[in-house]
Amino acid sequence: MRRLLLFDIDGTLVAGGPAKSAFHLALMETFGTAGAIEAHNFAGKTDPQIARELLRGAGFSEADIDAGFPRLWDRYVTHLEERLHTQPMQVLPGVVALLDAAVDHDGVALGLMTGNIVRGAELKLGSAGIWNRFRTGSFGSDHEERDELPAIALDRAHTEWGVAFSPDQAVVVGDTPRDIQCGRKTGMRTLGVATGRYAISDLEGAGADRVVPDLSDTRWVLSLLTD
Ligand SMILES: [Mg+2]
Repeated sequence: MRRLLLFDIDGTLVAGGPAKSAFHLALMETFGTAGAIEAHNFAGKTDPQIARELLRGAGFSEADIDAGFPRLWDRYVTHLEERLHTQPMQVLPGVVALLDAAVDHDGVALGLMTGNIVRGAELKLGSAGIWNRFRTGSFGSDHEERDELPAIALDRAHTEWGVAFSPDQAVVVGDTPRDIQCGRKTGMRTLGVATGRYAISDLEGAGADRVVPDLSDTRWVLSLLTD
């Protein structure tokens, strides 16, 4: 194994879906408010970070937020699972072909690095038929701060494949400046994908090693990921 690929989920592998409405409803049921959810920027943040920001903004104490979290996540995954049956996530262009090619490529390990809580990640990618392509990863349920997720992903990869990947053997694939900055801080390589709300120039501006418009050119993208 010489490369560990760490994919973000929303805007990178899949788009759409009912996560925001499930999250909104879970916040209402648990805390009686979803705060300023319509105006809030979710991009590249972890689920617990988003919830904490919204609830702080609505005047809740840290203790009240922490006390409500178990119920919030329970309600969220319940609503998410229900809604995904009729509103599954849409796989972004080229993703399935790229994952197939990466699985067949010697020396490439496939993982996730996402702000989604792990059960949310499983439900979202499961609805798109690609959850089983990933054997491990790090998630918003592992740590509220995205910058803590790379070390956790490397640890899990070590356990899964028995390989002590160095940061520069890992490639973060993501659609937001936060994904890119988080990878760079840890010394990981970064590939920006402009299929979310950010343009190629935004991802270049965040310091991405390479940026692609989408993942549809399988051979080119795989060559960037494995060079
Ligand atoms: Mg994303």
